[in-house]
Parts: sequence; structure tokens; C-alpha cells
Amino acid sequence: MTKGHSEMEALMGFMDRSTSPFHAVHELSTLLDDAGFTQLDETNRWDSRHGSYYVIRDGSIIAWAVPHGVSMEDGFTIVAGHTDSPNLRLKPILNGETSGLKQFGIEVYGGALLNTWLDRDLGVSGRIVTSSNGKLKEHLLMISEPVCRIPQLAIHLDRNVNEKGLVLNPQQHLRPIWGDEHSIQESFSDVLRERVLENDEYLESWDLMLHDIQPCALAGIDNQWLSSARIDNLVSCFSAISSLIESTSRSSHARVPMVALFNHEEVGSNSTAGAASNFLPSVLDRILENPIGADKHKTLAKSSLLSSDGAHATHPNYPEKHDLDHQVFMNAGLAIKRNSNERYATTAKGQGFAQLLCKSADIPFQIFSNRSDIPCGSTIGPIASTRLGIETIDMGIPQFAMHSSRELCGITDINYLQKFMLSYLGSGSLLDT
Ligand code: ZN
Repeated sequence: MTKGHSEMEALMGFMDRSTSPFHAVHELSTLLDDAGFTQLDETNRWDSRHGSYYVIRDGSIIAWAVPHGVSMEDGFTIVAGHTDSPNLRLKPILNGETSGLKQFGIEVYGGALLNTWLDRDLGVSGRIVTSSNGKLKEHLLMISEPVCRIPQLAIHLDRNVNEKGLVLNPQQHLRPIWGDEHSIQESFSDVLRERVLENDEYLESWDLMLHDIQPCALAGIDNQWLSSARIDNLVSCFSAISSLIESTSRSSHARVPMVALFNHEEVGSNSTAGAASNFLPSVLDRILENPIGADKHKTLAKSSLLSSDGAHATHPNYPEKHDLDHQVFMNAGLAIKRNSNERYATTAKGQGFAQLLCKSADIPFQIFSNRSDIPCGSTIGPIASTRLGIETIDMGIPQFAMHSSRELCGITDINYLQKFMLSYLGSGSLLDT
């Protein structure tokens, strides 16, 4: 493990506290505040020609810093990622009682591995909206105690489960239990009211989700792996913001460094704040229009985007699930992702650029391509590149158990990712490098 102890602790604390996209953005904004960035409000006019700024919209965050001596027309180097992870979300009405136990219904958010939510000590977090004197207010909510549980059916009652596989119906089998007939609260919304409401407040609504309260840990005989929830894609989010902050203290930039982290990637990015929304184009428009009126087309043509997201490490128990010509391994370097059907946005030009940056910064890299007979996952790279028309590289660190409630990645790869992001944020345009 080469990463400094305190940096690793900072990452692990962030992973544990960022149980929802809203908490992730809050944590990242605190890092930016401490580094002297100024928060801009979309409802105000901006004058952001010089300095370091960030904007938040519904679980997404965009931050940038204008270095001295760099003009907007030199273009942007944008590092992108996503703040959300697959999980179980609370429904709008939280009533229910069966067999003497209090329960509520959930919806599955994104492509979660459902079995990994069973027999875990589950807390609740996200945002709630309250009203007081006719005014709405948004609050973060965090209950990091084992208040909920989804118990698996005992093997004695499901004798063939190990041979036939576990079949879980989200409506029927994933209803958490949280209380019994002796519990004072009638419904889980009473629990929420009790936890967060001030005297004159009324609980109106929520965007809440479950999380495993077990903290992340270093794993493996040499502590070489990070075992955590939400590695996909909070490791990228933390690395991107840390690299942007470090980048601002350096003098060598050829373009304007920016980080854009989006909510709702796991459900297709179509939302007011997702990568397919107008969030990033609108922020770029506002930066460029005010007050200098930079040539937007020229700026975009000189810009590029690095989409950082997890890659599937070759699983030793399932080698047949991988293209053996394109295996990637944990702690063996960054995975540059290619897919001819544009599920990943990296082109030959982008691949070449990423490889040159890796070589110049002494960072090992690997090339990932899915098996040709298995449909390939995707990420925000193709969406963002389609919206902006700028060259995009899809890249990330290899990991196991993607979309499990507990994933695994290599510590050394996190160092490589941060080093790469730092080089990328300071880089010039693709073909001039
Ligand atoms: Zn992801």
C-alpha cells in the first residue's frame, strides 16, 4: 500500500459518510469549501471568470477552477463520474404489518445485486422535505444504526436454494422489518418524524434509501484491497475532487480543470440533474457567456472529458465470463475501456491520449473489452460526449462485485487513478500532447 495513511483514512471516512448521493455531494462540497472554492447558486447571476467555484443540483455537483494565464478558449479538461449507486429505496407511504412485524415497501434503484441486501444491518439516509409556516425546507437525513433488516429465508424452508439459485421478488421478498407490536411508532414515517422534526415542522416527503451500516475496511493479507459499499462510483468522485483541489495548487495548466459528478447514472441519467440533463451544458454556457463572451464552439472543440467508472476485474472463479485477451486485474493499473458499439466512448484517439498520459506519469494501464457474446454495461461517457460533442475517455479501476452492497477494489489502483486525474486535469488538447 503506497497511499498515505491519512489520505486513505480520508477516503474511507468519505465512503462511510456518503450513504446517499445527497450525502456524497455534501461531503465533496465540504472539501471544496475547505480548499477555498465558492458555491454558486443557479438562481443568481454569475461572475466566474477568475477563481474556483462549484454548483450543486439534486445530488450532482460541478466544480472548476480558472488557473492564472489560462483562457476559457483554451478549453476544459473535465473529469466526470457518478454520485449514485444501486440500492433499495423507500416508497412514499411506509405502512405495513405482517405476522406481527412492522414493515415497509422498497423499490430497487438501478441494477442492484439483490441477495447482497439480505441479512445486513441496515440504516436509512437521503433527504427529506419538511414544511413550516408554508415554506418548504430540504434536510439531509442519516440514521446509521441497524434499524432495518431483510432476513433471508432459512435453508430448511428453501432446500434447493444452493442448487437452483435465489429468486427474489422485490415487492414480496425485500420488505424490511423494523419493529414489532410493542414498538411505539405506528409507521416508519413516525420514526422519521421523531428523528428529524423541529417543533413547528411537518414532514412532507422524502428521497430515502437503505445502506449497510458496516464501515469499509482494508482487506487481504497485505491490506491491499478496499472492501466497501459504493466503490462504484464514489472512489472516482473522491479522487476527482481531491485531484481538482490538488491541481489548483499547481501552476501548470493548459486548459480549465473541471469535475462533473452526476446523480442518476444507475437508472439511465435521464433526470433534471443526470448526465443527460442540461446541467453540464448549462454550466459551461454560463461560464463562457459571462462576462467575456468566449467562443463556445472553439472552446468545446478544444475540450475533452474523462469518464471515470469501475471496470470488471477478471474473476478467478468465473474466467469464462471474461474475454481472456482483455483481462484486467486489481492493483495492476487503470483500465481503459473500449467498446465498438459505443457503450464506452473511448476512441482510438482517446485511448492513445490516455496511454501517453499514463506513460508520462509512470502509471500502469490495462485495456478492457467485454466478451463479445455478453452485453456490455455502459456509463456516463457516451451520454456526456453525445451532449457536448467532445472527445471522451472511459476509464476506471478494476473491481469485483460491481453493484453488490459490498464491493472490492485495489488500493494501489486508487493511487494510480488520482495520479492520472491530476495529469489529465493539467493536460493540453488531445493531439497537441
Ligand atoms: Zn458506475
